[in-house]
Amino acid sequence: SITGELHAEDVNGLTFHMPPCMDQLHTELRNAQHLRHGGRMQYGLFLKGIGLPLEQALLFWQKAFGKHTAEQFNKEYAYNIRHSYGMEGKRTDYTPYSCKGIIMGSTPGPGDHHGCPFRHWPAAKLRDSLSARGLDDFDKEDVMQFVQGHHYQLACTRYFEVTRAMKMGILTETLQGGLVEGGKSRVASQETIEHPNQFFEQSYLLFRK
Ligand code: SF4
Repeated sequence: SITGELHAEDVNGLTFHMPPCMDQLHTELRNAQHLRHGGRMQYGLFLKGIGLPLEQALLFWQKAFGKHTAEQFNKEYAYNIRHSYGMEGKRTDYTPYSCKGIIMGSTPGPGDHHGCPFRHWPAAKLRDSLSARGLDDFDKEDVMQFVQGHHYQLACTRYFEVTRAMKMGILTETLQGGLVEGGKSRVASQETIEHPNQFFEQSYLLFRK
């Protein structure tokens, strides 16, 4: 993987590169110290894909599920994590879900946090979350137009371009003492986002020093 081998404690520092579908799971996991099965699968396989090996995944999840004792964790959750790494049962080495898989997959019910925000969130919640991430009205409506046309992956691609450009602007400001171009700067995404791990990798490579 492009990150090399990750350690459990590296994950927190990588959330900027995560697409909204994974970022929401990470945030929920930190807040609730728990995720339901659909979320654990979606996020767990994503983390596997970005380079978290099994032993580190077990450490990451045990720490994240801080309310559980080690014994509870081992009994209730460790098997499934080992299973998703192909170390239990039929030993299938599961791969991270694609956008299509997530978008067409099970609709999240109350208390679930899996799914694709562009597909599964009500428009008002999505708009609020785009504002919270610093998108102005112009960019927000640009993203929402794709959503309304059911082009969720294009919405995500535009989100990628706008938010990465904003981050670059911040870097430019820091490096060059306040020189930020106005207007609608965008980072060109090499391709339409088809996979959460592709989103991560494109972003990671863009900012790798
Ligand atoms: Fe995640 Fe794909 Fe939805 Fe983007 S389009 S939020 S990467 S599922």
